[in-house]
Amino acid sequence: MQEPHTLHYRALPWIPASAGMTPETTKPRVLGAECSPVLFSPQMAETTELRPKKLFIKTYGCQMNVYDSDRMADALAPHGYEPTPVIDDADLVVLNTCHIREKASEKVFSELGRLAEMKREGRDFMVGVAGCVAQAEGEEIARRSKAVDLVFGPQSYHRLPELLARAVSGERVVETEFPAEDKFEHLPQAEQKVIRSRGLTAFLTVQEGCDKFCSFCVVPYTRGAETSRSVEQVLAEARNLVAAGVRELTLLGQNVNAYHGLDARGRSVGLGELCERLAEIEDLARIRYTTSHPSDMTDELIAAHRDNLKLMPYLHLPVQSGSDRILKAMNRRHTVADYRRIIERIKTARPDMAMSGDFIVGFPGETDADFADTMSIVREVGYASAYTFKYSIRPGTPGADMADQVPEAVKTERLAALNQQIATQMRDFGRSVVGRTLDVLIEKPGRMPGQIGGRSPYLQAVHMEGPERLIGSVQPVLIVAAGNNSIEGKIVTHAERKAASLIETQVVAAQ
Ligand code: SAM
Ligand code: SF4
Repeated sequence: MQEPHTLHYRALPWIPASAGMTPETTKPRVLGAECSPVLFSPQMAETTELRPKKLFIKTYGCQMNVYDSDRMADALAPHGYEPTPVIDDADLVVLNTCHIREKASEKVFSELGRLAEMKREGRDFMVGVAGCVAQAEGEEIARRSKAVDLVFGPQSYHRLPELLARAVSGERVVETEFPAEDKFEHLPQAEQKVIRSRGLTAFLTVQEGCDKFCSFCVVPYTRGAETSRSVEQVLAEARNLVAAGVRELTLLGQNVNAYHGLDARGRSVGLGELCERLAEIEDLARIRYTTSHPSDMTDELIAAHRDNLKLMPYLHLPVQSGSDRILKAMNRRHTVADYRRIIERIKTARPDMAMSGDFIVGFPGETDADFADTMSIVREVGYASAYTFKYSIRPGTPGADMADQVPEAVKTERLAALNQQIATQMRDFGRSVVGRTLDVLIEKPGRMPGQIGGRSPYLQAVHMEGPERLIGSVQPVLIVAAGNNSIEGKIVTHAERKAASLIETQVVAAQ
């Protein structure tokens, strides 16, 4: 297992690197392909290009931004843009930004400084700023950085070819409206070979925006109101991904379990039922979803964890704080007791469920006693991993105007204590699976000859001996050792796996 991450809401620690995720915000999303550049003109927006241009996207923030970056690349592909991992080769550089914390947005401005320097040195390329900083700061970005040619918010990605064409013809484009049309209706599906190049696991955004207005959070302002994609749209995208070889889907949403998409008959469908429909796709082996709000853990969704064996027993369910006083000030709409009850119900439905979470330390007014309550809930729930953050003031949110802002030194101290506790629990969780037989999705060749690598249901990296022809399959693996960042196993037969499951079931029943 990896160390817990501080202040980087880049990805959950367990998101596989093969899905394009890295734990640090600072690492660019590397998009690979080699090709030679051509000029882009407005007329090209509707046509297929003769010669490709190169696109470099640097992704900051959460998994939703990783997904969005891929969709931007998909939108530009029919217009002659091919991804490059080399910024110096790019005809178009897009910074897909995150506004969740102050540091995340600061990084964008320092990167823009570097891009401006490259332009001054004579490099000729276009610069686009996308994502939540673009949405929140719009004109201000264009004003502060002369290097920027276009600024566009998360709801305008489908219009990227047209916006880019306007920018190429000399207009300084700033597009931060929330258009009435559904961007997903207009975004092209990725080509099968492109999907294959992205790996066996994929993200799929099913929900966007948030109506909850937690007092620390910018999401309702940058991503807008809660919306859900229709069931048919999600199924069509899922089928396309699975047809290209994807075996595991992670459904995404800022508040994914608030999903309420319409089905073909116009009926509102919850996330549990959506997962049931997805599970009918035969070659899809695994389904995950993130990020969830405790108040939206419905009976239907909890029952899905009992009945839908494709739903993985690993749930990211942030509580943020273990103190009711702070939860109230955060406008979280649930108490610690509510959260405990939800976890109990989930574990009753799925006894082998492991939990992950998000925590904010140093929210305004947080006392030592409140922080001690956070440490208690961390120990009590026994999180297998967690994301931990120092509270970051976000202008425009209610938290920014609250009295009793906590000094930075106190936040730092609390964060260190929390991280230490989480690191211990992560290590213990890694060790707790030794001796168990887990289903492992085999994803890639291993580092040593004869080795292969995959992911456990808990998203742990697993190494074992085995032939490469198993890549793409799910194998029963007896876990024999746990290291800091990965576990080691031995592939067993399905009969041995069945016997091991019986023993595990008896152990759980006896507990
Ligand atoms: N919707 C999810 C929920 O309600 O639990 C969380 C999604 S939010 C985009 C991701 C995480 O960023 C939050 O869970 C929170 O821990 C963290 N976060 C959001 N705003 C923050 C702030 N102002 N300072 C520090 N962390 C913040
Ligand atoms: Fe932000 Fe999540 Fe709260 Fe919505 S529910 S405001 S996304 S923390």
